[in-house]
Amino acid sequence: MRPEILNPLFAEVDTLDGVGPKLKKPLEKLRCTRVRDIAYHWPDRFVTRRPVETLDEAGEGEQIIIALTVTEHRSGASRRAPYRVLATDSAGNVLALTFFGRASYTAKKQLPVGEKRRVAGKLERYGDMLQMVHPDHVMKLDDAGLGQMREPVYSLAEGLTQPRMASLAAQALEKLPDLPEWIEPGMLAQQKWPAWADALRSVHARDDETAKDRLAYDELLANALALQLVKADNRRKRGRPLAGDGSLRDKLQLPFPLTGAQERSIREIEGDLAQDAPMLRLLQGDVGAGKTVVALHAMLVAVEAGAQAALLAPTEILARQHFETLREMARPTGVEVALLTGRDKGRARESILMGLMDGSIQIVVGTHAIFQEAVQYRDLGLVVVDEQHRFGVSQRLQMTGKGKRPPHTLSMTATPIPRTLTLANYGEMEVSRLDELPPGRQAIDTRVVGMDRLPEVVEAVGRHLASGQQAYWVCPMVRDEEGMEKAAAEQRYAALKARFDDDAVVMVHGQLDPEVKDAAMARFASGQAKLLVATTVIEVGVDVPASTLIVIEQAESFGLAQLHQLRGRVGRGSEKSTCLLLRGNQLSETGQRRLALMRETQDGFRIAEEDLELRGGGELLGTRQSGDTPFRIATLDQMQRFLDPATADAKLLMDRDAGLEGERGEAARILLYLMERDMGVRTLRGG
Ligand code: ADP
Ligand code: MG
Repeated sequence: MRPEILNPLFAEVDTLDGVGPKLKKPLEKLRCTRVRDIAYHWPDRFVTRRPVETLDEAGEGEQIIIALTVTEHRSGASRRAPYRVLATDSAGNVLALTFFGRASYTAKKQLPVGEKRRVAGKLERYGDMLQMVHPDHVMKLDDAGLGQMREPVYSLAEGLTQPRMASLAAQALEKLPDLPEWIEPGMLAQQKWPAWADALRSVHARDDETAKDRLAYDELLANALALQLVKADNRRKRGRPLAGDGSLRDKLQLPFPLTGAQERSIREIEGDLAQDAPMLRLLQGDVGAGKTVVALHAMLVAVEAGAQAALLAPTEILARQHFETLREMARPTGVEVALLTGRDKGRARESILMGLMDGSIQIVVGTHAIFQEAVQYRDLGLVVVDEQHRFGVSQRLQMTGKGKRPPHTLSMTATPIPRTLTLANYGEMEVSRLDELPPGRQAIDTRVVGMDRLPEVVEAVGRHLASGQQAYWVCPMVRDEEGMEKAAAEQRYAALKARFDDDAVVMVHGQLDPEVKDAAMARFASGQAKLLVATTVIEVGVDVPASTLIVIEQAESFGLAQLHQLRGRVGRGSEKSTCLLLRGNQLSETGQRRLALMRETQDGFRIAEEDLELRGGGELLGTRQSGDTPFRIATLDQMQRFLDPATADAKLLMDRDAGLEGERGEAARILLYLMERDMGVRTLRGG
């Protein structure tokens, strides 16, 4: 139960004055749905306006305050044309105050002809006219707030204005409760950090790095504590040791010997499984490193020991593909492998549920559907989670709640996560590393090509297909506008389909019907279709070794880690592979560096480290941009400075007060709820 003291913060935004259904939408876009979120949505920066006597003193683009006399109102020639109010300064210079849409009503009221007003805003030029679009303030001369004016600049969504946002923030700050201090007093004193509520008030009022650090530390501490709680809970649990006798694994007939790294990882996993305490291990291996075989070995150990194993994949496509691969590989062992996704309905689903309940299905592969209430296992011993960074901590906990005794878990990730992020995401999970690629892999020939050479690229794809090989064509995904993602892929699909043999081209993207998607993937995987046009749904794990060319459109719009993942779709067989990065004309410096790095290296670790660098210290590393950090507040720079102390502090607190029952423990509980890391608290008494 969330502590009552936090209730005002978790009230919906529409409990604030002035928030109706119309504002809820843009606020939602900013991920502000509760009062708490508004309090945490502090200004990006502050502007200082300069008071000027005449326009001659001001430069274009400058934020100014100036006294003007209103001379004329001009409504637009058409409905879409702006409404203009002309006004003159003391020297007779004319300034057009420009209003679009319904803002003209306010203009009419606030700026009567012949009156003097002080206006504040940004001075711009429009043709040969000086103008100010939507002045931020229109004041009477005797109004307070004269002289210099410093103001917050909040990031906004359409439908919101700066004054509105500032007013919501002020209301949210009014509601801040007085919370007990959860940061260790020594740390607080050493860093000279303000108390929580003061810190929030401060970051809305000025550019206060110290206060921001404190708020970031809160988040890091909460995360570290949550991970500690989960880990402690795990240690208390008695799982079941799974010792395999090798009888099933001996029957495998793999077409290749395991690499040294695979052998080593399997041994490490075996060692964990034989223990009483449930395994919490991360298997880290770059794309194509061969994690699937390792997972199969782990699952067979469980089955040899008489238990069941489940593999959880982040997408439908991936679940299906894992299922096919694992079923094929496991065939000689006689083990029953089933697929269960949210899509399975009716009788087929019933029969799988039965099989899981009576134990006749020993390995199940699926999406999160395999952990829904209705799914009962006879004896679930091991859960393997593929591409773990796509799942939240709460989902992880849900999984471990399934067995009678908590199952062992093996998480697999292809993103070679820098150490900082591993710590943030997994706490101190044990890690096995596949740091050796299977032999015979060839480097992928990566080239950056301008979009103006599209026709040549299409020709090259044509030659590639004509030679009997397969290819991917990836279109950018525009995150917030689902429709655009579809348009991009569908347009390209139509064009390529028209250019090549109709049957040779298939498409997958997030909004297709599942059946349509499957059918397309199946046709591509079987080699019937030669060219797959896709959005980033193919980013993780898709494995079609015969595909040796990938074209990535608007490559600059993808993050490095994502490009690396996408490129990893090729170079999986023994044939030489090519990756063509199509870039648009407007390339930012970061975009350029990203593409250059892609050309330069295939080392996933280096790419991951540089990815973090490039995204820069000041930039928020929210889940919006990447799924690889669990933080909304802490920047990369703050993570680097405070993740270690926060982790150490969390550990110390847990050592002293594992139940979080002392004074600081109670405060820490509040912090966990405040930062929405409360799933850990539920493992405690009275949580
Ligand atoms: P990932 O780590 O990206 O999940 P996969 O498990 O999909 O990698 O393996 C990539 C490809 O490498 C697959 O086609 C797989 O059969 C093959 N592979 C895995 N291990 C070996 C090995 N030891 N030797 C040769 N090929 C291997
Ligand atoms: Mg994989």
